[in-house]
Amino acid sequence: MAPGVVACSRRRSAVWASIKDSADGFLVTAPANVRYLTGFTGTNGWLLLGAEGALFLTDPRYEQQAAEQLGDVPVVISPTGLHDALAQAVRGHDLERIDFEAEHVTVALKEKLEASVEVKWVAASAAVETQRRRKDPDEVAAIRAALAVTEAALEEVVAALTPGQTEIEVAADIERACRRRGATGMAFETIVASGQRCALPHGVASTRCIEAGEPVMIDTGCTLDGYCSDLTRMIWCGGAPDRRWMEVHDLVDRARAAALATVGPGIAAVAVDAAARYVINEGGCADAFTHGTGHGVGLEIHEAPKVSRHSTDVLEAGMVLTIEPGVYLEGELGIRIEDLVRVTDEGCERLTTLGTEPMLRGTA
Ligand code: ZN
Ligand code: ZN
Repeated sequence: MAPGVVACSRRRSAVWASIKDSADGFLVTAPANVRYLTGFTGTNGWLLLGAEGALFLTDPRYEQQAAEQLGDVPVVISPTGLHDALAQAVRGHDLERIDFEAEHVTVALKEKLEASVEVKWVAASAAVETQRRRKDPDEVAAIRAALAVTEAALEEVVAALTPGQTEIEVAADIERACRRRGATGMAFETIVASGQRCALPHGVASTRCIEAGEPVMIDTGCTLDGYCSDLTRMIWCGGAPDRRWMEVHDLVDRARAAALATVGPGIAAVAVDAAARYVINEGGCADAFTHGTGHGVGLEIHEAPKVSRHSTDVLEAGMVLTIEPGVYLEGELGIRIEDLVRVTDEGCERLTTLGTEPMLRGTA
């Protein structure tokens, strides 16, 4: 579902409120931020916020789409580039300073902006991303829908998983199953790692054939209405799982549960990470958990907050984040279990509905 003209207007007001005391304008250029503030789903559009309201800049390919998606936001069209549209839009206005998105404007683009519009250009950090951290109910619904598609696709593909299939074939099956259920794309390159390749935390699917009696790690997520999902499960393909593998799986799952139990408003993200790490350290795998416990998910697959040892983020109600501890022992095994949760007023809600136990294939 599109975010709605009212929601976008509210979001623009909140962002502008954080800028207006120091600048006369704010130029939003990152596609996800433009989409968040306008509902525009095209690939070439900028948004200029100012005291007089918002202006949308795009090229002639998007004239009709912009009119349909932006409600009453005025649109400036230029066939020669968005910086030309910007120059046209601000001509005759008395502006001294315009802020731009520090994380998204390249050196080349900044030079172009300076050449097109003579104002003081100042880098502003994460003004839109700060707003995007807390999801509104429509956003949560979109993430939930994307996750439901991912879960159903994973269950379907695991049920049909056969020794002899390559990791790439399994990844393709998952992507097709997501698309058939209405996904508009994948949120990231699907990870399918089998056997000892599971020890690669980001083992992108290879041409390796999955053998009977082996573990498989699948980490996948699709996009729906622009919003991402993220899910990791461990599969055992054929026969009963190895005992040591089951022990480590249980350890990782206890770390996941401990982190999840810590999530709540006002909680430092480092405390959530520490809860998972404590369980894994106690289980004797201290050095084998080589990444952070989780990350925010929304219009982008990795966004604020960061849940890691170095995070300075504090959790707030409305945030959606992953909890995904892992243990990676080179040459032996690798196990990660990933859930998606929403921070609530009381604690957290697990958005993932699949159980966390290993998915067993062909054990009969
Ligand atoms: Zn993932
Ligand atoms: Zn993740």
